[in-house]
Amino acid sequence: MLSRERIRELLTYPGRDVLSLYLDVDPTRPENARANPAYRVWAKTALRDLVRSFADILPKDEHKELEERVERLIEHVELLRPTGRTYVLFQGRDWEEECSCQARLRENFVHYGTPAVVPLLWLLEEYARAGIVLVDHQQARFLTVQLGLTESVEEEFLYIDTSEFPEYDVRSTPILEAHGARVVKGSFSDVFDRRVDAHVERFWRDVAERLERFVAHEDPVFVLLGGEERARSFLLDVLHPKTREKILAEGLSIGVGAPERDILLAAKPVLERAEREHEYRLVEQTLEQLHKNGRADAGRENVLNAVRLGRAHTVLAAWPITGNIRVCPTCGTYFDAELTQLAACPYCGTALMERSFATSLLREAYLHDTEVELVTGRAAERLAPYGGVAATLRYA
Ligand SMILES: [Zn+2]
Repeated sequence: MLSRERIRELLTYPGRDVLSLYLDVDPTRPENARANPAYRVWAKTALRDLVRSFADILPKDEHKELEERVERLIEHVELLRPTGRTYVLFQGRDWEEECSCQARLRENFVHYGTPAVVPLLWLLEEYARAGIVLVDHQQARFLTVQLGLTESVEEEFLYIDTSEFPEYDVRSTPILEAHGARVVKGSFSDVFDRRVDAHVERFWRDVAERLERFVAHEDPVFVLLGGEERARSFLLDVLHPKTREKILAEGLSIGVGAPERDILLAAKPVLERAEREHEYRLVEQTLEQLHKNGRADAGRENVLNAVRLGRAHTVLAAWPITGNIRVCPTCGTYFDAELTQLAACPYCGTALMERSFATSLLREAYLHDTEVELVTGRAAERLAPYGGVAATLRYA
């Protein structure tokens, strides 16, 4: 995945000679499972159409260069071995950036000009990452799943992100008796039982350490613990409070070795509920700060200007985000297009330009390192009186 820094560079890239390509390469779609997958056919046609559409616009030599670049790109797509559901590529004259993600693309598209980065930002924001950790007395399994925040109900909500975060197993080495036979728990003396317990405990401490690293590295919104009850309570006791905050109170009683599909089915209702509650809590906390101590802001114009000035920490936005905003191209100030009929900026007199609110919000958020949380359902309803957006501020 592209780093935030790289995304910022692309957002402010001055050149207008960048090819942006977004392809739905989802291997579970039958049309993509063919020998000549649908995305390949689409890319070839769309890229050549694009070249033709620029024939009368670009100077001859530039057009020739674009044509050559596109042919190379078509070859590149031919050889593509997709790893996620969506493939994204930005290609300049002498550089390229590509990435794959598990989010589902609504429509393939290709663009020539400044890098079309905002659609990628949506793909990144529409999913929340959660962890599922299954532990018993001899093995542990770590899984990362993506929670779709905005997929329609008939689509699956949750899936395991195996491309970027491969699951890995931890196994406790079986305890051996002096003569090398494996110990089977429950069939030996008290002394031996304690030795096995100490051994299992060491294993669980190891799992706890891995869990700390897992949370630090993957930064999931939360972690669902599953497996044996004793293992779960042991982990909860020894985990760092910071990590424990991320563990859902509700456990998952499913075997460590269960097939992925069964794990997902069991985890889905728990994670769904947890995500909704998490969103609602965030909105409540933000609105409380708004009314109490002014460490929050709400409303489209206020929030967008706070983000632009680098003052917003986290933006909460009700999905779907619609409508337009007006912006002053000179001083950058935003004005709510629905509230104000202003044609010119009251600060500098420049004629205002109409922009998509959603695009402006994401763009500013990435440029100013602000977190964006998309919320739905009850949490979104709470934001309705504020134009669907609120933000916590970095300082009062
Ligand atoms: Zn202005």
